[in-house]
Amino acid sequence: MKENENLLRLEDIHVHYGGVKALDGATVYLNDGEILALMGPNGAGKSTILKALFGIAPVTKGEIYYYGERIYPVPHEIVERGISFVPQGRQIFKSLTVLENLEMGGFSINSRAVLKSNIEAVLDLFPDLRKKLKVPAKNLSGGQQQMVAIARGLVTTPKVLLLDEPSLGLSPKVVKEVFAKIKEINQRHGTSIMIVEHNLQSVLEIVDRAYLLDKGQVVENNTPQHIISSGLLEKVFLAHK
Ligand code: ADP
Repeated sequence: MKENENLLRLEDIHVHYGGVKALDGATVYLNDGEILALMGPNGAGKSTILKALFGIAPVTKGEIYYYGERIYPVPHEIVERGISFVPQGRQIFKSLTVLENLEMGGFSINSRAVLKSNIEAVLDLFPDLRKKLKVPAKNLSGGQQQMVAIARGLVTTPKVLLLDEPSLGLSPKVVKEVFAKIKEINQRHGTSIMIVEHNLQSVLEIVDRAYLLDKGQVVENNTPQHIISSGLLEKVFLAHK
């Protein structure tokens, strides 16, 4: 990667769902080793950015670059490139055990030995899950299920982790734990992380930079301190009340 090159870059992305403009010329980048938040009111286009990156949104115009090279995302290839997506709503396999869920996260890994050692490395990050390996995921609390969803996304040792609303439906205390874990993943493994989040206060505590989106466009791209002090958050969110 060249100096000053973004790890990931979405340039002037347009996504239309019929007559709905989900993204209307959004440019968003992620730097190596960074934690980034995508914020904005409901329907602003945040999730669509993650979906465009993962090759599951109908991009009509725009370009995506990874390590400076133009890519045309297709889901299984994106995983092989080292980009992992943890969708909204803890979409783990509820009737499978925690271990089976982690193994599913590594389905693209051909070597049993690599899969085993990757799962071990993930469990070092999530020691509480070690005691639950044989437990069906449905028997875990919401917070533990979210940890399983994130852990599963890490089994392929991704370079980039995309998280869609990791705090959804969790109590404030558990949200804090989930965000602390996300920060720890970033610090211990240098994983670059992009988080779509409605829980502004918690997410702004852990990110290096944040985007504010509205109506499919980027309204602001700045540090959390600047975004908080600029008053833009209130302006954009109040306009939607
Ligand atoms: P956010 O994540 O900011 O809440 P989304 O990216 O989910 O916003 O959605 C942006 C816009 O695109 C919204 O108006 C939403 O209703 C629309 N949209 C998203 N996904 C679809 C879809 N599969 N079909 C039709 N419209 C969609």
